Amino acid sequence: MSTTDTFVAVAEAHSAPTYHPLPVVVATADGAWMTDVEGRRYLDLLAGYSALNFGHCNRRLIDAAKAQLERVTLTSRAFHHDRFGAFCEQLAALCGMETVLPMNTGAEAVESAVKTARKWGYRVKGVPAEMAKIVVAGNNFHGRTTTIISFSTDPEARADFGPYTPGFEIVPYGDLTAMRSALTENTVAVLLEPIQGEAGVVVPPAGYLPAVRELTRERNVLFVADEIQSGLGRTGRTFACEHEGVVPDVYVLGKALGGGIVPVSAVVSSAEVLGVFRPGEHGSTFGGNPLACAVALEVIAMLRSGEYQARAAELGEHLHRQLGALAGTDRVTQVRGRGLWAGVDIHPRYGTGREVSEKLMDRGVLVKDTHGSTVRIAPPLVIAKEDLDWGLAQLRAVLGV
Ligand code: PLP
Repeated sequence: MSTTDTFVAVAEAHSAPTYHPLPVVVATADGAWMTDVEGRRYLDLLAGYSALNFGHCNRRLIDAAKAQLERVTLTSRAFHHDRFGAFCEQLAALCGMETVLPMNTGAEAVESAVKTARKWGYRVKGVPAEMAKIVVAGNNFHGRTTTIISFSTDPEARADFGPYTPGFEIVPYGDLTAMRSALTENTVAVLLEPIQGEAGVVVPPAGYLPAVRELTRERNVLFVADEIQSGLGRTGRTFACEHEGVVPDVYVLGKALGGGIVPVSAVVSSAEVLGVFRPGEHGSTFGGNPLACAVALEVIAMLRSGEYQARAAELGEHLHRQLGALAGTDRVTQVRGRGLWAGVDIHPRYGTGREVSEKLMDRGVLVKDTHGSTVRIAPPLVIAKEDLDWGLAQLRAVLGV
């Protein structure tokens, strides 16, 4: 048995089989590169599903984490700590908003946004008790909790997890007419990914997000943008909504906010919307902890410079030019995306997304398939242009073009 096989066997023997990872066992990582337990190097074109926008072991982030580790790591929210106010103030400012509700994982932040919207609906909008509705899009991915999978359209994510949470209506993504007819007096929020990540990096038709913005404003409905995967530089802007000039009522953030070091998520909105909570009505032991705040403060400072967004925009243009050429061949049926983020649909004749991912792994490139035929490309934003080009050359070689 190889060293890799030994590690894989132990993991498979003792972990719940909720994932089907590629058979690579990572031991160390730096920037856009990972090294496995056998000393092989791989170019990371997944970046922890966009949690590693600033690269592996980013020096600034590691230094911020180390310094905080030596001071204080957890107080719980029973007490104040000296990083908390700055984190909330600076994150709100980055979002052009006022108030932050800190959580840990993406799913928790989405759950918190659902609770916020319902509470706002009852306490501010005047929706009758138990009648609040939230409109979501088909093919969404917002996380894995029982409530969130209640409004998933993915049978794999839902099967045998019922009974499901009521109060959600699903409309096709990008269909404004369906959205308009789904809104009623009891609708408290529209919850959307501005680009659907897990669905295969699906960009909605131009004008859709601004039209949803206008519609929700007219109907006194909160527009909640789940920017957990699309936000914080990935698309070439701080938020994917910016490409369409849209400012939602609520941002839901996660992944890259914790710099790939600690789970940090947040709901960010106005004082009016997040002010609906009273002490004791919501919380989290680890939400807003000192270590999370210290790392996130450094992430926010990095994003404030604009350099990562600029890099994602510039390299993203290059990436999409290269992938556009592939879309002209008979191997690739479609390429979608924005910035350093792409979904590449492989023609079934040339194999599944999984098979392409395995062949890329053999050539030293790590990506992950989604929905059978799609290979998703989302490198750390710090990737060198030559490395990106090398990775794309491996993709061309695997596809034989
Ligand atoms: N929302 C979106 C748009 C996501 O892409 C994800 C994760 O992929 C989540 C929510 C859930 O985040 P987490 O896995 O941290 O719970």
